[in-house]
Amino acid sequence: MSAESELLEKIRTLSRPVKIMHICGTHERTISRNGLRDVLPEEIEVLSGPGCPVCVTPKEEIDRAIALAESGIIVTSFGDMMRVPGSSGSLMDARSRGCDVRMVYSIDDAIAIAEKDPESKVVFFAIGFETTTPTNAAAILRKPPENFSLLLTHKLTIPAIEALIDEIEVDAFIAPGHVCTIIGIHPFEQFAEKGFPIIAAGFEADELLLSILMILEQLKAGEYKVENAYPRAVKDEGNVRAQEMMDKVFKVTDSQWRGLGTIPDSGMVMRPEFSQYNASIIYADLIAEKMKNISYENSLSSLCHCADILKGKEKPDNCPLFSKKCTPSNPVGSCMVSQEGMCYNWFRYRGVD
Ligand code: SF4
Repeated sequence: MSAESELLEKIRTLSRPVKIMHICGTHERTISRNGLRDVLPEEIEVLSGPGCPVCVTPKEEIDRAIALAESGIIVTSFGDMMRVPGSSGSLMDARSRGCDVRMVYSIDDAIAIAEKDPESKVVFFAIGFETTTPTNAAAILRKPPENFSLLLTHKLTIPAIEALIDEIEVDAFIAPGHVCTIIGIHPFEQFAEKGFPIIAAGFEADELLLSILMILEQLKAGEYKVENAYPRAVKDEGNVRAQEMMDKVFKVTDSQWRGLGTIPDSGMVMRPEFSQYNASIIYADLIAEKMKNISYENSLSSLCHCADILKGKEKPDNCPLFSKKCTPSNPVGSCMVSQEGMCYNWFRYRGVD
């Protein structure tokens, strides 16, 4: 019997009606690719939370990046981010209009572009959760060239859960393994104290099934705690060196999330001593001028259900645009762009294409 079959057997024995939310785009990918929702007992519902960094980046941030690109600055970004719609198109659209927008695989690629072309201004559009923030902090501490700066949209996981926990109907959480490698498992203890089992999980199908089994065991025992089901990568205290680097370069600030609004203390901003690398400060006037006529009153398309999908309240096929006007090759909302997005995975792995 395979490890997955054994785990499923045990899960069936302990099965009960339960809603489990993960907060990680890579977890969603594993769950969808392996069809885990279809093999779990029907009463065990696995919901996708706001764990895909591309999905939660608001239009305003994309518009800022486009404003820079339209002003003759080289804007570098991860591939998925280039396809997310802002108020009037994506970075990819800006590139097709002649702007210099380049796809990179890391901040080091972006720095290399700046080093190679010292006469140009180069901005790295930095997205992501605690997983990617330390890498960007380390790059800033290495003092990149003066023509290089960061447009930051970093998000923090814990405040997002805090903001959602009273609004959503959920019984337990699977904590994001990559984020836990940086921040450890202690920051999640506050949720266990409120009565939510929470398990840090790895990214293989059997690791996710193990985390579901551990949740069911906690619920059966009536004990709610944080447990580490990914000990080969996650230390309880996380990566202290990475935490120190993040803290040295960035500080916590309120942040806007696509579909979720502004969440207190859920983002990161560059500390004043590193302002020479802060594109939001260096190009503040230019961004303000370019964006002065954009209105964000109805920031999401009225038909796009991304806001409820990011809160685990809806499934993608509840959205009237799903697989019709909104597809991976023509995404209307951010959840359809990235391989970590719920709508993308629903489309890709539930036989719609
Ligand atoms: Fe938004 Fe497209 Fe998903 Fe609908 S299918 S919620 S439009 S991303």
